[in-house]
Amino acid sequence: MPKLPKIEETDYFTNRTYKNEEGDIVGKLILYRIKGEKEFGYFMICQYCGKESEGKVELKRRPYRIKCIHCGKTTTVEKIKPKKR
Ligand SMILES: [Zn+2]
Repeated sequence: MPKLPKIEETDYFTNRTYKNEEGDIVGKLILYRIKGEKEFGYFMICQYCGKESEGKVELKRRPYRIKCIHCGKTTTVEKIKPKKR
């Protein structure tokens, strides 16, 4: 795991997990932007190939998408939906 900023240092921070059809967690994405910076930082465990990557990326439009540097597949940061009961 990389060193992550404190949440109060960021103006965007999300921590998502991704599950396969069986409901097992197969991927993870932490995406954040430090206040005043243009680029986002991320740490990802790819839900498709399982490899880790991290880096900086400029994201302009929502939903934000991070491309895996290993397999080239894209993980999307979906809007969090309210839970249905
Ligand atoms: Zn991948």
